[in-house]
Amino acid sequence: MASSSLPPGLHLDTLAVRAAVDKSQYGENSEALYLTSSFTQPDCETAARRFAGEEEGYIYSRFTNPTVASMEMRLAALEGTGACIGTSSGMSAVLLLCMGLLKAGDHVVCSRSVFGSTIKLIASEFGKFGVTSSFVSQTELAEWKAAIRPETRLLFAETPTNPLTDVCDIRALADLAHEAGALLAVDNCFCTPALQQPAKLGADIVIHSGTKYLDGQGRVVAGALCASEKLIAEKFIPVMRSAGMSLSPFNAWVVLKGMETLGLRMEAQSARALALAQWLEAHPKVGRVYYPGLKSHGQHELAMAQQSGLGGAVVSFDVKAAGPQQARERAFHVIDSTRLLSVTANLGDVKTIITHPASTSHGRLSEEQRLAAGIQQNLIRVAVGLEHLDDVKADLSRGLDTLE
Ligand SMILES: *Cc1c(COP(=O)(O)O)cnc(C)c1O
Repeated sequence: MASSSLPPGLHLDTLAVRAAVDKSQYGENSEALYLTSSFTQPDCETAARRFAGEEEGYIYSRFTNPTVASMEMRLAALEGTGACIGTSSGMSAVLLLCMGLLKAGDHVVCSRSVFGSTIKLIASEFGKFGVTSSFVSQTELAEWKAAIRPETRLLFAETPTNPLTDVCDIRALADLAHEAGALLAVDNCFCTPALQQPAKLGADIVIHSGTKYLDGQGRVVAGALCASEKLIAEKFIPVMRSAGMSLSPFNAWVVLKGMETLGLRMEAQSARALALAQWLEAHPKVGRVYYPGLKSHGQHELAMAQQSGLGGAVVSFDVKAAGPQQARERAFHVIDSTRLLSVTANLGDVKTIITHPASTSHGRLSEEQRLAAGIQQNLIRVAVGLEHLDDVKADLSRGLDTLE
């Protein structure tokens, strides 16, 4: 329902600061924050037409709000999808996706390495309603192909993965989905449209946790689902109106303003992450380093082609260790020796974050599941922010250099 009078053919950097609904009568230069639950109607006839969808006009903030519409318009412009729906969290965007597309008897093929709550939502929650699912290798296309059945409606991927940064080929998965009459959804949280635009590679739906890089400063929980105008109107708006996983106008405004610096942040944080990954790879106390920007990464070339030549801001590494007990102790020592980095399981902040995945984000997995996912006790994940890299290295050296 939002309109915009921008000239056509603008670049990503421009859209990130300019795409929004038209200014109000006050001509404010920074987009206004409309903290209102409902909108008054000029008269009953107009209200009736608006409620019937025959005339544009704001009604109620569960499904229409100008601040949320600005955020949606900006993200849709960056992703190159026709439309977008802001949601209360990244997970509620995945919920909206599943509610909009799936019914009992349908089947989903999903990478085994996607965000843990996504796996739980698809397998356990939608399993209760008769949706079946298969979980396959992130990188082996043949496994995806073999898992497809006549009732497969959706392929779901996330690339690069958390925390091991495995990359999948979005275009190849889109072709596979479309040959099977299914749709491809991609969680673009790690790269953001500044690096990778899945819709331009054939994905039908792009999912975001706005909590991460879109906000970029760790202030709010938010999410979004981007798709064509047709898919949004036919499959997702009706669910949104009834189920109400709505994004609050305040959180939408924070994300809207966050997106203005998205391109600069992603470039600067990716550059720091690459330099940190190279430093870690040369460190005598460090084993394997997982980062798509490194030549040693299994899908380095695909990642560089798909992600605008940048690796993103998440680097993971193994601390060298003799056995599982020592592995955990040594990883804890490195993390607990930091004095600058934030010890938390979030990511996408300008403050660098350090995490022990095996005991936090992946702590609910059984030992067997965790090892199958390649997450060992000596693995550390660093979500690189904007501090000076020498200070980040010095903070990691405190622990690494005191390992015996
Ligand atoms: C954080 C995250 C989510 C979930 O987002 P919330 O905003 O926390 O609900 C989904 N996917 C990925 C890749 C994430 O990192």
